[in-house]
Amino acid sequence: MSLLVVGSVAYDSVKTPAGSRETSLGGSATYFSIAASYFSQVSLVAVIGDDFMPEHVELLESHSVDVSGLERRNGKTFRWSGVYSTEDLNQRETLDTQLNVFAEFSPELTEEQRATEYLFLANIEPRLQTQVLEQMSPRPKLVALDSMNFWIDGSRSDLDAIVAAVDLIFMDEGEARAFAGEENLAQAAKRIHAVGPKIVVIKRGEHGVLVSNSGDLFALPAFILDRVVDPTGAGDSFAGGFMGMLAATGDLSTRGIRRAAVLGSVIGSFTVQDFSADRLAALSHDEITDRFAAFEKLTTFAGLDDGGPLPRGQ
Ligand code: AMP
Repeated sequence: MSLLVVGSVAYDSVKTPAGSRETSLGGSATYFSIAASYFSQVSLVAVIGDDFMPEHVELLESHSVDVSGLERRNGKTFRWSGVYSTEDLNQRETLDTQLNVFAEFSPELTEEQRATEYLFLANIEPRLQTQVLEQMSPRPKLVALDSMNFWIDGSRSDLDAIVAAVDLIFMDEGEARAFAGEENLAQAAKRIHAVGPKIVVIKRGEHGVLVSNSGDLFALPAFILDRVVDPTGAGDSFAGGFMGMLAATGDLSTRGIRRAAVLGSVIGSFTVQDFSADRLAALSHDEITDRFAAFEKLTTFAGLDDGGPLPRGQ
């Protein structure tokens, strides 16, 4: 089964406590596509400028990403720059967002793309996300959405419309709180369910992820790493691993959703170990399998039945 993604392909400049990188490959759809490619066939719909380097198209192609929907236009590629707090890597400040060629982008899907069974509307202007969803026919088995504070603050009514139309939403915890107007995450998830999505996935950075599947809660820590180099793209890579698994297995049961969340976390944990998509793009299936096993070991504990009845103090 195949997976279609529309989102940003970008050049990022980031500063983290581990160092900085100027004009490196980034973008929500870039991280997503490479991550999902480890499990599923992916088609990418996005726009790039005439400054986009051929080696970066080749990198996507080397992961068998279908780049026929990657439109090249005169002008500059989308640019984003951000800086991470030295005290808390979960905190980042956007310094600059330049839409560039995205300002004029108007995605037109091919017949084949319209019929894709799994759709991921990665972080991009909500109006474009709606434009893509409206072209899908028949409606995909699963439509998922990601967004960012930039759009929550700047395009709220467009964002509300697309949130109401999707099955699954990924948000980071700050965004979920801002969108729902609610500090408590369980309550925030409920409010987001009330807008539309049956599945609400709240990404919590180094604190892991909370999935609310029609109210059934699943919480997972982040994989414990000795060192994080650059958190950029962790959320998109998480979504890529998650959606790649769903598209590959077709398993939308509670179990399938939970396992997809684990695989998403595994993939995201690699992304943050280097700048840009450097580590993400160099993965092998063995590395993914080994980290999955290490993650299982980290998070598994015996049920109460294994150790006899619960002791009573008196
Ligand atoms: P993440 O760290 O998973 O939130 O993803 C960061 C990526 O999103 C970066 O590579 C940026 O290029 C991209 N990005 C940042 N701001 C926006 C935006 N407003 N719209 C679309 N993509 C963005």
